[in-house]
Amino acid sequence: MTEPLLKVEGLKKHFPITGGIMGRPVNHVKAVDGVSFQVRKGETLGIVGESGCGKSTTGRMLMRLIDPSEGKVTFEDKELTSLSKADMRKIRRDIQMVFQDPYASLNPRHTVERILEEPLIVHGMGSAKERKKKVHELLEIVGLSSYHAKRYPHQFSGGQRQRIGIARALMTQPKLIIADEPVSALDVSIQAQVLNLMKELQEEFDLTYIFIAHDLGVVRHISDRVGVMYLGKMVELSESENLYVEPLHPYTQALLSAVPIPDPAFERDTILLQGDIPSPSNPPSGCAFHTRCPHAMDVCRSKTPEFKEHLPGHYVACHLYEDSK
Ligand code: SF4
Repeated sequence: MTEPLLKVEGLKKHFPITGGIMGRPVNHVKAVDGVSFQVRKGETLGIVGESGCGKSTTGRMLMRLIDPSEGKVTFEDKELTSLSKADMRKIRRDIQMVFQDPYASLNPRHTVERILEEPLIVHGMGSAKERKKKVHELLEIVGLSSYHAKRYPHQFSGGQRQRIGIARALMTQPKLIIADEPVSALDVSIQAQVLNLMKELQEEFDLTYIFIAHDLGVVRHISDRVGVMYLGKMVELSESENLYVEPLHPYTQALLSAVPIPDPAFERDTILLQGDIPSPSNPPSGCAFHTRCPHAMDVCRSKTPEFKEHLPGHYVACHLYEDSK
C-alpha cells in the first residue's frame, strides 16, 4: 500500500453557541465530531454528504483555515495542528484549495495575471519574470490562453473561472489539493470538462486530491476511495468501486439510490429518507442516523456504532455489521 500523505485522527470542530447576558457558551454545534481517515500519495479521496454534514469544515481544518477543537492532522511527517501560524503558512505552499464558487474566490479588481501571481509572491517564489512565465504556462495547461492574463474574472464563463481557480491552486506546485465542491456551481456539460481536466493534471503533476461533494454521482469517476459523512461523522469509507457496488451503510444506500445508473440491466429502487437532517447542535442519541434509518433497531437509539473495518479496506459505522467482526 502506498504511504499516506495525510493522516487525520479524531478530528473535531465544536462551534460554541453563546447565550445569556454574559455571552457564555450554552451549547455547541458539533460540526465535525471525531473524523479519522488517511489519504495515500497520488490518490483521490472523495468526501460526500448532505449540506451541514461537516465535509467542508473538515476540508478547511486540514489547511487550518479553521482551527480544530480536537484531533490531529499529519501531513508527511509534520503535525499541522501544533504548528505556529508562520510555519503553517509555509506548508500551504504544498496544500492548496479549490473552492466551489470561483467567482467569489477570485478578486474582481485584479487581472488574472495578478491573481495567479499572488501565491508565488506570498511564498517568495521566483523573480517577477519567472512568475509571469509561470502564469502564462499554467493558463495554457488549464486550457486557457496567454492573452487571458490581462483580463478580469467577470470576463470569463463559470467553467473558465474554475480553470483559473485550478491554475491558481497549481502555481506553487502543491502536493495535495483540497477541492471543495469544485464543480457544483457549473452546468452539467461543463462539470465533465473540469473533472477531466483535474484528472489529467493529477497524472501530469503527481497530485493527491481530496474531493468534497454533496453528490455521489460526481465523485464516482474521479475518486479512488470515497468517505461518506453524516452529521459530523464518517459513516462509511471504502474503495470507490466497492462502495458503489456494495454500499453497507443505510445512509450510503439511500444516497446511491438517488444516483441515476446508465445501465438499464442494473436497477436500484429509490430509497426515500424520511425527515430532515437533524441539527448538529442537538444530534440524536446513539446512531445519529436512527431518526431516518429504515433499519433502525432499539440498540441504535442508545449506542453509538463504532467505525470499524467490516471488509478489507471497507469501513462502516452501523450496528447491522457489529457482530460480524
Ligand atoms: Fe441504521 Fe442502526 Fe445502522 Fe444507524 S446503526 S445506520 S440506525 S441500522
